[in-house]
Amino acid sequence: MTDPVRAWIGLGANLGDARAALESAFEALARLPDSTLARRSSLYRSAPVDAGGPDYLNAVAALDTTLEPEALLQALHAIEAQQGRDRPYHHAPRTLDLDLLLYGERVVHTPRLTVPHPRLHLRAFVLAPLLELQPDLEHPELGSLRLWLDRSADQRVERLA
Ligand code: ADP
Ligand code: MG
Repeated sequence: MTDPVRAWIGLGANLGDARAALESAFEALARLPDSTLARRSSLYRSAPVDAGGPDYLNAVAALDTTLEPEALLQALHAIEAQQGRDRPYHHAPRTLDLDLLLYGERVVHTPRLTVPHPRLHLRAFVLAPLLELQPDLEHPELGSLRLWLDRSADQRVERLA
């Protein structure tokens, strides 16, 4: 057996019962094969960045997995599909969005997958829950994520109790 890698998954929802969508997404992540759901962050409320619609709820999961990045992305898309995500247009409001943020220190560039996620360091609603779980987390190409959160201080993101 190869050693598991710690992958970080970003969860977002802003349609219908967003809290329930995130809850069942965490449950689905916990059931993934060859993977252990190690940690889950608090829920955060954020204003949509490039999209319209109501506020988002966001969270992050730490998943220890032996699934390769492409297989993991496929599994994330399957969870999104099970929860009835429609894609009527780019950046449409969505019931559930799952992003592969980081896969250990691995850098991946394929037609379907870019890891680290190309915008994670610019989004307070991703950085805040990531750093809640691991305050010294490093981006393999961009260094301390804490510094990036400091730079995105203008973005409204609220940690929910
Ligand atoms: P976004 O999350 O950027 O708002 P989507 O969820 O609609 O947009 O994703 C669009 C495409 O991005 C997906 O089909 C997927 O193949 C691709 N993609 C590339 N890198 C990643 C990644 N790290 N995590 C999730 N999706 C990714
Ligand atoms: Mg996505």
